[in-house]
Amino acid sequence: RAKEVGRNSFQLFKPAMNARSLERLAMMSRLQSAIEHHEFELYFQPKQCLQSNKILGVEALLRWHEPTLGVISPAKFIPLAEELGLIVRLDLWVLEQACKELANWRTLNLDAGRLAINISAIHLRQGQLASNVQRLLIHYGVSPAKLEIELTESCFISHFSEAKQELMALKKLGVHITLDDFGTGYSALSYLTKLPIDTLKIDASFIAKVPDEYGNSEIVSAIITLAKSLNMQVVAEGVEKLEQLNYLHSLTCDTIQGYYFCRPITRQQWYAFYQQQLELS
Ligand code: C2E
Ligand code: MG
Ligand code: MG
Ligand code: MG
Repeated sequence: RAKEVGRNSFQLFKPAMNARSLERLAMMSRLQSAIEHHEFELYFQPKQCLQSNKILGVEALLRWHEPTLGVISPAKFIPLAEELGLIVRLDLWVLEQACKELANWRTLNLDAGRLAINISAIHLRQGQLASNVQRLLIHYGVSPAKLEIELTESCFISHFSEAKQELMALKKLGVHITLDDFGTGYSALSYLTKLPIDTLKIDASFIAKVPDEYGNSEIVSAIITLAKSLNMQVVAEGVEKLEQLNYLHSLTCDTIQGYYFCRPITRQQWYAFYQQQLELS
């Protein structure tokens, strides 16, 4: 920061900037020690198959329990972690927890499909994601087919060839690759045919406006058709209402995720939810 502003140090003391940057600075230094202090926890949000109503998989979502501030949203701290160069460490922590969790599932005989984690574009670019994934899968004795990695289009915008290489390596391992927040990025659609993507996840902002808002429903319908014609699976995220579910079902969308089916919940709640779903089916 200070370097950017140069020698014009008076800039640092502008009152409005002061409060904001102090808050950021405080958050950043807290974030640095949060991993060691075990302040992170994975929550779980299941995905539901619209054909069978069964759980097809579950997404791990990171939560930070900051001792004085309470729960901080990843939307807030992930960008900070990226800026601080902490994101790879954080992603690796999540990846390792996910592998441990999958090893638990096997012990518990819990067959809940795949476990998905979110990985930052920065991590993908760095070039060691596939080897990290391989190492941890082997270490915990987990099948690669049980792991799903969710990435956003921002991964491919500026470093296409590096990202492609890494995705190819992940695909070769047998890990499932999902494109998250689909439809919100700015990259050309042609990349869809050049990368080994298994699933498109339609961004929640489109789902929020179906079935009512003209234009949005057409976009959602077009994405589903596009995914199917490219032999990809398709997930709708942010499904909150029955009308949205019914509409997506009528468009033959494979899978839904959202508050309607289940909110992100703790591990214990997730096990209970899974048991309850088993008894229902
Ligand atoms: P995402 O991967 O697109 O996750 C979906 C977000 O929508 C989650 O927010 C989830 O809690 C929320 N959500 C799910 N269903 C509904 C719904 O029906 N309605 C509404 N309004 N929201 C819903 P969350 O957990 O706050 O995460 C935000 C973003 O932070 C994630 O977006 C992902 O990009 C990032 N993130 C979360 N965990 C991790 C992680 O472990 N590593 C990395 N690199 N990023 C993560
Ligand atoms: Mg995601
Ligand atoms: Mg998303
Ligand atoms: Mg997102």
